[in-house]
Amino acid sequence: MPEFVTIPALLNLHHTDKRLRDTREGLENVTRDQRAAEEHLANVNADIAKMETEHREVLARLAAEELEASSKLQHIEKMRSALNETKTNKEYSAILVQISAEKALVAEIEGRAEGLMLKDQEMQKAIQALREKQQKAIENLESLRSSSAAKVDELNRRIEELLAARVEAAQKVPAEALKQYERIAQRHPGEVMAPVEFEEDDMENIACGGCFMGLNREDLNLLRGRDEIRRCRSCGRILYFAAVPSSETKSTAK
Ligand SMILES: [Zn+2]
Repeated sequence: MPEFVTIPALLNLHHTDKRLRDTREGLENVTRDQRAAEEHLANVNADIAKMETEHREVLARLAAEELEASSKLQHIEKMRSALNETKTNKEYSAILVQISAEKALVAEIEGRAEGLMLKDQEMQKAIQALREKQQKAIENLESLRSSSAAKVDELNRRIEELLAARVEAAQKVPAEALKQYERIAQRHPGEVMAPVEFEEDDMENIACGGCFMGLNREDLNLLRGRDEIRRCRSCGRILYFAAVPSSETKSTAK
């Protein structure tokens, strides 16, 4: 019986990686609602910023229209006083024509200003509504954060422990095997290794526990007899016996 080092060490690493992946998933689940709430708040904040920019533009346009109207009104007043200074009827009626033209312009400006004032009121209401939405979003986020804080801390602590355990587990794997393992891990994160599935009384049906493609008896025999890596020809995962003799594997299995 050869001494089995490679596969048990790989399995130990594999189990650590699986737990690492599960714990990260757990953290992901805990923080998912929180991230959705953060995103919602960010959207509301963006809406407020956009609306406030538009509102400032409306107010600036309103101020400009009002300035224009008041300068026109002053000019009309001047023209009215000028009426008394006129010498001829022709001069008088020319000024009257100009006054009425400017009054028409003032009416137009005031129409536009009125529209802008309505817009200003609408926007103030909309901004107010958005601010209430923002307040609710902040409260919701805070409550999610406080309720999950303990859980997040615990999971982060667990991840740190597992990362340390991973370093230790990786050190025990022969260098070449570790290289292969890490390469496969990029394709099958947390699932680099697959058990060989078979029944002792039915050796015709041997399969890779990762992709369920059939394996042959030779794979089984080589795996039983040698301390080396055998990979599934179909998915490339490193094969192992569920019953591989290793105290380490047993103690770290779930
Ligand atoms: Zn496979």
